[in-house]
Amino acid sequence: MSKALVWLRRDLRIDDHAALYHALKLHAQVYVAFVFDTDILDALPDKYDRRVEFIWESLNELKLALQQKGGDLLIRHGKAIEEIPRLAQKLEVAAVYANRDYEPLAIARDEKVAQALLRVDKTLHLFKDQVLFEQDEILTQTGKPYGVFTPYKRAHLAKLNPFYLKAYPVQRYLKSLAGGKAEGMPSLESMGFSRTNLKTMRLPTGIKGAQQLFDDFLQRIEDYHDARNYPAIKGVSYLSVHLRFGTISIRQLAHAAWQLSLAGNEGAATWLSELIWRDFYFQVCYHRPDLQLERRAYRLEYDQLPFPNNRDWFAAWCEGRTGYPIVDAAMRQLNETGYMHNRLRMVVASFLVKDLLIDWRWGEQYFAEKLIDFDFAANNGGWQWAASTGCDAQPYFRIFNPQSQSEKFDAKGKFIRKYVPELTGLDDRKIHAPYADTPNKKDLLVSMPQIDYPMAIVDHAVQRQEALSLYKNNVK
Ligand code: FAD
Repeated sequence: MSKALVWLRRDLRIDDHAALYHALKLHAQVYVAFVFDTDILDALPDKYDRRVEFIWESLNELKLALQQKGGDLLIRHGKAIEEIPRLAQKLEVAAVYANRDYEPLAIARDEKVAQALLRVDKTLHLFKDQVLFEQDEILTQTGKPYGVFTPYKRAHLAKLNPFYLKAYPVQRYLKSLAGGKAEGMPSLESMGFSRTNLKTMRLPTGIKGAQQLFDDFLQRIEDYHDARNYPAIKGVSYLSVHLRFGTISIRQLAHAAWQLSLAGNEGAATWLSELIWRDFYFQVCYHRPDLQLERRAYRLEYDQLPFPNNRDWFAAWCEGRTGYPIVDAAMRQLNETGYMHNRLRMVVASFLVKDLLIDWRWGEQYFAEKLIDFDFAANNGGWQWAASTGCDAQPYFRIFNPQSQSEKFDAKGKFIRKYVPELTGLDDRKIHAPYADTPNKKDLLVSMPQIDYPMAIVDHAVQRQEALSLYKNNVK
């Protein structure tokens, strides 16, 4: 009887799962395992980490779901490069199945696991699962990877058809799931992590949570193209963390969006485009391992910009006390919830790099520590886009004005009031720039003594010019 092991990583679900499908179809007994990888966990600076709790909660649900189908989820806490070969030997499986990862560090890990398995006559099989198109599936006419989104999207949409969106019919083969020996889950505390405020946030976890969010979003998808830019409105899907950990399949989401868009649903077409951005950054990351391994700029001529990197300004940005309400509200949202609206990610990233003149890598790293949906490819892509060092057809002189972004996308200051409550009393005009008409903080305190909010740490107009000359004078 041939046995196999499915190793879950960023695909914490049962349905429409490429590796699970292939393993179940070919083997009579299939075990499923997840490793809390200490190579990843030990590098996390804060043991209060919503992502670890999100995974833990989702695994609890998944374990139960597998048990109900006659299987189980084996959980290990250790180095994946040791645990997976060890488990494969212990279970006497012929092969290990997993879904392909595109980050250079993950690719290196998988190569090590594959070699260790080979030494004991076992094979690691990897499958496309987390993207619609991978690696070299979409190249330019000259066979090169795309570096600009719009032509990539065009090629992506031209190739997309029901074949690529079809779900893997895993349910049909579940009888081959192998039960475990009723092994428990390690507690968060036993792995050195603590509970976070995840439960108090309206972010459901696991397969059911993902489906719940998607069902809710489908009721609103028609308005997505209009509503998606306003952080105070429930306009986006909030599915990023679920896409990150694969509690829902990209094919399921894209299929629904694709069909709706063909029927003329503009919101669905725009949302599909966002899912294509996700594929786009995965392929960029895959083709440019130096982005992660050497922390290089995508556009090498901008790799060594001499940012002054003022540490006090960086601390003010991280803590949401720059004196720019929209920036501060966004940073406080990130710190309090681990999420930040896409519009605001662009605003705060532009502000850090082009107003505070701080290396984008600092901001990228801060996001990597805080974002619940942190994903190297999308995060690096987003930061380099904002810093004009990445995949963007626009040159470096696109600089966001934080005040006008605030007036445009949070006109009534609803989002600002939620996260910067000390400004609640200001009217809808003043809330975007509390000290614009007040030369010093003392004057404002006289008129509004309840407000304890910093003066703007920099003048946008001045910093804008500084940024322009920094880029202009230092391009290699
Ligand atoms: P929706 O608007 O509902 O979009 C649906 C999905 O499309 C998202 O869940 C995401 O998977 C994908 N998507 C949307 N926009 C982008 C984009 N620009 N690039 C890649 N994928 C996209 N997204 C992450 O998933 N992880 C990150 O670490 C991350 N870091 C970012 C950093 C910066 C500086 C910027 C500007 C953007 C970043 N994004 C990141 C992209 C985007 O902000 C988030 O995907 C989005 O805000 C998540 O919310 P949502 O699921 O409600 O999005």
